[in-house]
Amino acid sequence: MLINWAYGKPSDEEREKLLKALGVPDDLCNPLFPLPNMKRSSEKEFWGWNASYSPRARIWLGSQTIAYQHANILIYWMGEVHPSFAVAVIYKNTVADRAVYYRWSACDHDFKITASGHCWRDYTCTKCGVTDHEDSSG
Ligand SMILES: [Zn+2]
Repeated sequence: MLINWAYGKPSDEEREKLLKALGVPDDLCNPLFPLPNMKRSSEKEFWGWNASYSPRARIWLGSQTIAYQHANILIYWMGEVHPSFAVAVIYKNTVADRAVYYRWSACDHDFKITASGHCWRDYTCTKCGVTDHEDSSG
């Protein structure tokens, strides 16, 4: 797989988080497809998340066969908190015919509020322990 980091060379910690999410020891290995907790998504959901949060990395996974059709897979990693995405560009003969959207995540998070204030909340996943902070004060 080829990893294209959105913000230049990542920290070792960031790189390890991505490899762990994909379930591979290093970037010479391709992750198994389907990706962890992968579900069908939509063009609308994919672009909605991309408009709100920049992917941390875009990964070219290369050729796969989906429902007996040739497809090239692009993975969009949104970090460990938000859902990540994969886009399968399905080919008809040698021409890109259509895109199929998926969402995936290393953990199927179950967030609970662990602290809150007037216009902020802290969340922790009960399964993996990842935390998030939401502040609506603008
Ligand atoms: Zn989790």
